[in-house]
Amino acid sequence: MPSSKTRIAIVGGGVAGLLVARHTAAKLDTYSLTLFEQTDQVGGTWIYTDETDVDKHGLAIHSSMYKNLRTNLPREIMQIPDFPMKHDEGPSFVHHSVIREYLWDYAKHFNLYPHIKLNTLVKHVEPETLRNGQTIWMITYVDMETKIETTKTFDVVVLCNGHYTVGHIPRIPGIESFPSGSIHSHQYRVPEVYARKKVCILGASWSGIDIAMEVSQYAEKVYLSHNLSALGDSKMPKNVEQRPGIQSIQGNIFIFRDGSTAEVDNFIYCTGYKFTYPFMSSKVEMRTDDNHVEPIYKHLIHIDYPSLFIMGLPGIVIPFPMFHIQAQYILNIIEGHIKLPSAQQMREEYEVEKKALLDRGIQLRHINKLKERQWAYYDELAAATGIPSFPPVIRKIYDHSNQMRELDIGNYKNYQYRIIDDENFVVCCCKPC
Ligand SMILES: Cc1cc2nc3c(=O)[nH]c(=O)nc-3n(C[C@H](O)[C@H](O)[C@H](O)COP(=O)(O)OP(=O)(O)OC[C@H]3O[C@@H](n4cnc5c(N)ncnc54)[C@H](O)[C@@H]3O)c2cc1C
Repeated sequence: MPSSKTRIAIVGGGVAGLLVARHTAAKLDTYSLTLFEQTDQVGGTWIYTDETDVDKHGLAIHSSMYKNLRTNLPREIMQIPDFPMKHDEGPSFVHHSVIREYLWDYAKHFNLYPHIKLNTLVKHVEPETLRNGQTIWMITYVDMETKIETTKTFDVVVLCNGHYTVGHIPRIPGIESFPSGSIHSHQYRVPEVYARKKVCILGASWSGIDIAMEVSQYAEKVYLSHNLSALGDSKMPKNVEQRPGIQSIQGNIFIFRDGSTAEVDNFIYCTGYKFTYPFMSSKVEMRTDDNHVEPIYKHLIHIDYPSLFIMGLPGIVIPFPMFHIQAQYILNIIEGHIKLPSAQQMREEYEVEKKALLDRGIQLRHINKLKERQWAYYDELAAATGIPSFPPVIRKIYDHSNQMRELDIGNYKNYQYRIIDDENFVVCCCKPC
């Protein structure tokens, strides 16, 4: 007899996949659950490795963590609402290994391992429409140890494969003449290799600034090249100099957009990542050009296939608690508690929203960066799901830590936050600030 349970497949065992699994596993009367993870551990990008190329199975290294990375959000707001992080002394911006342990504890605490297939690569995802109009999904996966390939059928697919692995590399005229190696931040691991070097870092988003700060402790000079408005120089290390974007490269000489030049030994692209879904059937439209995924409703639901969900699309958000809300929102859709509009209505709504953002001057590739829009997004999904949204204190800490980052880039990670109640927090500096 076929099971009457809804068969859910989750692709990827990072934090997004674990959160969807946790909420699904709480309803095993309703669901059967399989989470596929290509590596031998859950935790996704939080599993640091010295390797930068391929793993023992020849798969591209997934993680973009570097050895000394500390979180860029305080743990008090990063933590998953129903699984608080252990309270330790010390700064709120913790080493990546703390997050790895936390995610492993989470998977154990919610007894997720019986549903997880480690060392299992999802190779292909194919939709099939039944006579009754229902879509089912054929997932072909490979056991990386035995190389045995299997295809199984599911009712719902949730993609949680992450999007910080395939680097975006802009084309720079003359790059082929640069004699030394260049890397993408995905491959960056330790700063010591840049001792006494002149290093150019392109891009001043989170990774660019973070890597510039640590490389500057060893390098003779760091050129932080970017097209944003200049960052406050006052708290930057003396050997970090900001330059505009790179116009061209001639051998070791970098020519910047203001006409200035610099001699460079090493070059690191901190220019962001690309969304990729290499396993998806060509039947399913997944446009990823200009670093923007379409056609997706509420940053989560495939408009043509509402049993296909894509986690992790919004940027400039607080990912872990957002996934906590999104996971429950998805289950409410599957269970019919949340009624989605027709595909045509979803598309129209999406197009109106997109046009409004484009009209405000937001480029297509930045539409998913929610920034100030994130709070309304959480509130909307949480209200539809009937669960609490973020309490005001989360936004207050988020804003405070962003402000401190702007004011004191070299020190902001030394602050320790403590939540007092839904509205209030206290903060102190753990080291002389
Ligand atoms: C350098 C860096 C620093 C960051 N710092 C912070 C921070 O301080 N705070 C914060 O909240 N967020 C931070 N983030 C964002 C972080 O990516 C998210 O918080 C979150 O970890 C993303 O989780 P995910 O599950 O979407 O993806 P991932 O963690 O990338 O997990 C995806 C998983 O899918 C698996 N997978 C991929 N393809 C397949 C396949 N075909 N078959 C089977 N398995 C597959 C991968 O092996 C991986 O385990 C940082 C990201 C980076 C890159």
